Amino acid sequence: MTLPAVADCVFCKIVAGQIPCFKLLEDDATIAFMDINPVNPGHALAVAKGHWPTVDVIPAEVLAAVATTAQRIAKAVMAKLRPDGVNLMQANGPGAGQSVPHLHIHIIPRRPGDDLLFNWQPRAVERAEIEAVWHRLKAGL
Ligand code: 5GP
Ligand code: ZN
Repeated sequence: MTLPAVADCVFCKIVAGQIPCFKLLEDDATIAFMDINPVNPGHALAVAKGHWPTVDVIPAEVLAAVATTAQRIAKAVMAKLRPDGVNLMQANGPGAGQSVPHLHIHIIPRRPGDDLLFNWQPRAVERAEIEAVWHRLKAGL
């Protein structure tokens, strides 16, 4: 199967071997490597080999393969680096902080007091507010 690729995409270049990376593993559909600007030691990426920008357009079976690769990396991180915890994070679109529009899952080891910003405080909302959004969302399923 020919995978979609985009010439000026940095992850497509890594997949094609045109840019080096600290590769952890690869299979037919995915590749995993160390993030070049880690937020914590051990920060790695599980990446689809084909170029699909976001979760809404990637084939479900490829997304499942990326998730499986992320799980393998997370297990190794837990076993070998013994962090306090691990976050899996996946961004879609600039509003979500996505800087490389080629689907990937971050594997982020956590350290006590690292203060990474995606640990939000829960917000108290009325049940009706949740219900209203629930109705809108269900209509899209
Ligand atoms: P995003 O912001 O799209 O969720 O995450 C993109 C990630 O890719 C960032 O954490 C960034 O450090 C990483 N990244 C960008 N360019 C490269 C590169 O050339 N090599 C590697 N290994 N990681 C990269
Ligand atoms: Zn790409």
